Amino acid sequence: MGTAPVRPWTCLVVAADSPLGLVGAAVDDITRHLPDPGVPDKCLTCGADAYWPCRFFDDAGHVVRTAKLPVRALVPADLHSRLPPPDSCDAPEWPSRAPDEEKDHG
Ligand SMILES: [Zn+2]
Repeated sequence: MGTAPVRPWTCLVVAADSPLGLVGAAVDDITRHLPDPGVPDKCLTCGADAYWPCRFFDDAGHVVRTAKLPVRALVPADLHSRLPPPDSCDAPEWPSRAPDEEKDHG
């Protein structure tokens, strides 16, 4: 009988009327629906066969992005490659390419 590793988590306190505090329920949902280490394509909260990112994670991520907060800041780095690119939804200020200013230098 082996025991699968469980992803550790921590509690934070933020002002309820801050941008992060206003979407606190969505932040909780994102954390609740993260996969455990070693099973990056499964949401064990939704069920043993549930694919990740699951619908609940996606819905909570949409709420967080609507508040102009980065979903990646709430997701462990080992899962970032499984997330959609930051500019694929409604993140208008993400730089899509570097400016061409360097060209006329010199
Ligand atoms: Zn889930």
